[in-house]
Amino acid sequence: MYRLKAKTFVIIDDDKMTIDFHRHMLEKIGFSNYKTYISAVELLDSIKKNKYRDAIVLCDLRMPEMDGVEFIRKLAENNFLGYLLVVSAVDSKIMKSAITLGRTLGLNIMGGLAKPLKSSGLAQILEKNKYHVIKHQPVVDCNLTKDALISALNSDELFLVYQPKINLKDLSIVGVEALIRWRHPRHGLVSPLTFIEFAESEGLITDVTHRVLHMAFKQLAAWKKRGLYTTMSINVSENDLQCLDFPDYLVSLSEKYDIDLALLTLELTETCLMSDLATSLDVLTRVRLRDIELSIDDYGTGYSTMTKLRHLPFTELKLDQEFIKKIDREQEDYMMIKSNIEMTKNLGLITVAEGIETKEVLAVLQELQCDIGQGYYFSRPLLADDFEAWAKNFNA
Ligand code: C2E
Ligand code: MG
Ligand code: MG
Repeated sequence: MYRLKAKTFVIIDDDKMTIDFHRHMLEKIGFSNYKTYISAVELLDSIKKNKYRDAIVLCDLRMPEMDGVEFIRKLAENNFLGYLLVVSAVDSKIMKSAITLGRTLGLNIMGGLAKPLKSSGLAQILEKNKYHVIKHQPVVDCNLTKDALISALNSDELFLVYQPKINLKDLSIVGVEALIRWRHPRHGLVSPLTFIEFAESEGLITDVTHRVLHMAFKQLAAWKKRGLYTTMSINVSENDLQCLDFPDYLVSLSEKYDIDLALLTLELTETCLMSDLATSLDVLTRVRLRDIELSIDDYGTGYSTMTKLRHLPFTELKLDQEFIKKIDREQEDYMMIKSNIEMTKNLGLITVAEGIETKEVLAVLQELQCDIGQGYYFSRPLLADDFEAWAKNFNA
């Protein structure tokens, strides 16, 4: 069956018959470990007592005592670490906004399903989320410590993998995105989704970024020596943009490794621009003066509009993979990506789509004239040597 980390289900619905029906659907696909509640208040009381830490809660939105939206907000207030699956008869737009709200509040929301619940839909969403469930493992589960990260910074536990960026017009390789990995001596491979946030909260992110930049420049220099010229994208954090000497640091590395800064793209998310905007703008403008490209990563997940971003010196926009994945099936995602690509092009920016996993999605993006693509369909992130071998084969 499903190798889900969370094994207990909690069904909350004010209607007893619905509860029985949902239990039946869960049993049908092989899950027998569930608890049921007709009162959201009661369930919240149990959650406050630290029960159901990694359960999957199936929750209705229309409930008499406390509606689903208030329930979602209270789950977040109580730092609920489990997973939520919304099952409701409400209009799909209302469902989507409730889900967005939950995600914005930091909850792990698996998605939404319409009533009456179908076992096939339930099975599909659980299957789809089995990686997500692992991906979003909270830091506390991993027990990362500051000392361990400091020691990693001084060893070879941190390393980079490289994911190819492909020109969607002629399917040539335009460069790579460098992605960090941590081979933790006890926890194995820790995802950056976990430890980058940890590094930020422990005040170590500048050290991580410096380490990444050193490894990246070193690799570019090694490739250059072998006649392989490639551009490289690097992810930076909010803190990096608050250091006025960040551009000088990049210049010093380019001199040390003899690498043209025009080969570099810095990727930052919209949240990176939330602190002192004047300082970020100072840094970003000087970065651009050095011909380094600037990319907005995960576009579509934050709240910035193009109106707000258009005065910033970006050269590239990366459409978030959550929307890309379904553009061949979901009309709303398709329309959003289509208009984003048009607008981005009108503003003279390069459009990049991340998370291309199938040839169907690739075909839609080509039809929409998206410039560059990245995703498992072409290649997963690879070790440097593997990238070289992959590139030879891809070009052949
Ligand atoms: P990101 O910059 O948006 O990177 C894309 C993520 O999507 C990567 O996850 C990549 O492995 C994954 N990905 C690429 N193609 C596909 C696909 O087709 N399907 C799916 N499902 N996933 C795909 P990864 O490497 O786990 O990195 C996660 C995030 O961690 C990155 O998101 C970035 O925000 C952050 N990160 C990674 N490396 C660094 C770093 O060196 N510094 C900083 N500050 N953040 C980093
Ligand atoms: Mg990125
Ligand atoms: Mg991204």
